[in-house]
Amino acid sequence: MAQTMQAAFVEQYGEALVLREVAIPVPGPGQILVKTEACGVCHTDLHAASGDWPIQPALPFIPGHEGIGIVTALGAGVTAVKQGDRVGVPWLYSACGHCEYCLAGHEPVCAEAQFGGFSKNGGFAEYIVADPDYVAHIPAGLAAREAAPLICAGITSYKGIKETQARPGQWIVISGIGGLGHLAVQYAKAMGMHVCAVDIDEGKLAHAARLGADAMVDARKADAIDLVKSTTGGGAHGVLITAPSLVAFRQGVGMTRKFGTCVLVGLPAGEFPTPLFDVVANCITIRGSFVGSRLDMAEALAFGVDGRVKADIELQPLSAINDVFDRLKRGDVPSRVVIDFGA
Ligand code: NAD
Ligand code: ZN
Ligand code: ZN
Repeated sequence: MAQTMQAAFVEQYGEALVLREVAIPVPGPGQILVKTEACGVCHTDLHAASGDWPIQPALPFIPGHEGIGIVTALGAGVTAVKQGDRVGVPWLYSACGHCEYCLAGHEPVCAEAQFGGFSKNGGFAEYIVADPDYVAHIPAGLAAREAAPLICAGITSYKGIKETQARPGQWIVISGIGGLGHLAVQYAKAMGMHVCAVDIDEGKLAHAARLGADAMVDARKADAIDLVKSTTGGGAHGVLITAPSLVAFRQGVGMTRKFGTCVLVGLPAGEFPTPLFDVVANCITIRGSFVGSRLDMAEALAFGVDGRVKADIELQPLSAINDVFDRLKRGDVPSRVVIDFGA
C-alpha cells in the first residue's frame, strides 16, 4: 500500500484549495480507513471553504462529505463494518448516541456531532478516516459514483420533503434545481406528489421538466409567486428551498399554501425577512431541516437501488476541484460534479 495520498486542503477561507501529498492517516481504536472511490461536490463544501457561516472549521481541513469508498483497515475493536465493505462518509460524521436528540433519531443536531469535510477531514482525499457507527452502508447494485450524491444531496432532499408533510397527490415546490433540487424532484415524484420546480436558470428548469416535474416557474419573474399559486390552486402544500440565495427564502414562504409547510435547507449566509402577517394569518409553518438520521440515509439510498432516483453526474479528477468550485459559485454546474478517484 502507498504511504502517501493526494488531498485537497482549505488553508485560508475564500482562497483556492491546495493539493498536497500527505501521509495516509492511520485509523485509531474504533475507527476505520476508507479508500475513496468517488466524492460528490456539494455547495456546502463551498460555504465551508469560504467561511460563510457563524461556525467555521479549524484550518487547514479537507472538505468533502459525499465520499464513497471501500473499507481497507479497521482500528481496534471495530465490528460494525468489515474490510471490503463499500461505505459512505457523510456530513453526519459522528454523534454522541446518548443525548435526547440522538435517542429521538434527531442525531444531526446532537451537540457533540462532528461533520465530515468540516470538523473532520473529508472525501477530497484518496483515503478517509471514518466512524464505523455513522458511515452510510452502500447497497449492492449502487456504484460508488452514483451513491455519492445520495449521501448528502439525496438524504437532505428526501428528509426535507418528508418534513414538509406534503402527501401523495398534493403539490410541492422545489426551489433550486441544482445538486439537491434535481434529486428532490425525483424523490417527490417517487413519493407521489405534484412537483412545481422553481429556479433562475432556464437550463435547470428544462432539466426539471425532463425529470418529471409537472410545472416550471422562473423565479426571476416578478409574478413568480402568483404563477405558483395559480398552478397549484392557492400555493403548494409543501415548499422545499434548496437555493443558496436569500431571495428564494422570502419567495418560498410566499409560495406556501395556507396551513402548508415551508422547509428551509439551503444555507446561504445571512437572514431573510419574514412576512409576519401572512405567516400568522395563513397558519404557515417555516421549518429548518438538516441532512437526516442514519435511518433516513438507508431510506434515501434505497430509492437509488431500483433507479427511482438517479443523480445526474459529471466526473472530474481531484486536480479540477478549484475549477469546480468556481463553476459552482457561478451556478455553472448542471447537477452534481463527482470527483472520480479512478479504479
Ligand atoms: P447547487 O449550487 O448545486 O444548486 C443551487 C441551485 O439553486 C442552482 O440550480 C441555482 O440555479 C439555484 N438558485 C440560485 N438562486 C436561486 C433563486 N433565487 N431561486 C431559485 N433557485 C435559485 O447547490 P446544492 O449543492 O444543491 O446546495 C444547495 C444549498 O443547500 C447550499 O446552500 C447548501 O449548503 C445547502 N445544503 C444544506 C443541507 C442541509 O442539511 N440543510 C445539506 C446539503 C446542502
Ligand atoms: Zn452537502
Ligand atoms: Zn447526541
